[in-house]
Amino acid sequence: MSRTFSIIKPDATKRNITGAINKLIESGNLRIIAQKRLKMSKEQAEGFYDVHKEKPFFKDLVEYMISEPVIVQVLEGDDAIIKYRTIMGATNPDNAEEGTIRKLFALNIQENSVHGSDSDENAVKEIDYFFTKDEIVG
Ligand code: GDP
Repeated sequence: MSRTFSIIKPDATKRNITGAINKLIESGNLRIIAQKRLKMSKEQAEGFYDVHKEKPFFKDLVEYMISEPVIVQVLEGDDAIIKYRTIMGATNPDNAEEGTIRKLFALNIQENSVHGSDSDENAVKEIDYFFTKDEIVG
């Protein structure tokens, strides 16, 4: 069993499709072991996407991430990181496989409905960024 970190992004909370996304997560054999809805601060979003700070889309990405509430989650399952990346689909919905969250719901490469960690190291870092130990109840 392993864990990954997920965000249901502003385009999805705005369109009231968080339940539809959770359904795909759960039917993909991942368990939502922690979850909360919050509105990110600018500093929080900038810190979270620090790795992209030199990218041309960084400012737009931060503005988007703070535009509406998000749902942050800890997901658990066998090979959780790779499994969730598969359920999510490619960053750009035009390249995403049929049936993936991004193919079904993403609006474009930026407003792509979900985030999922890309490595064990980042999963631990990202979970710690948003959750205290006692908020993860299993
Ligand atoms: P991810 O791991 O699939 O989420 O992709 P990345 O780590 O490469 O990018 C992080 C997030 O930045 C993506 O999920 C998008 O929301 C956004 N993003 C990535 N590439 C682009 C781009 O070329 N343009 C814009 N506007 N946003 C992008």
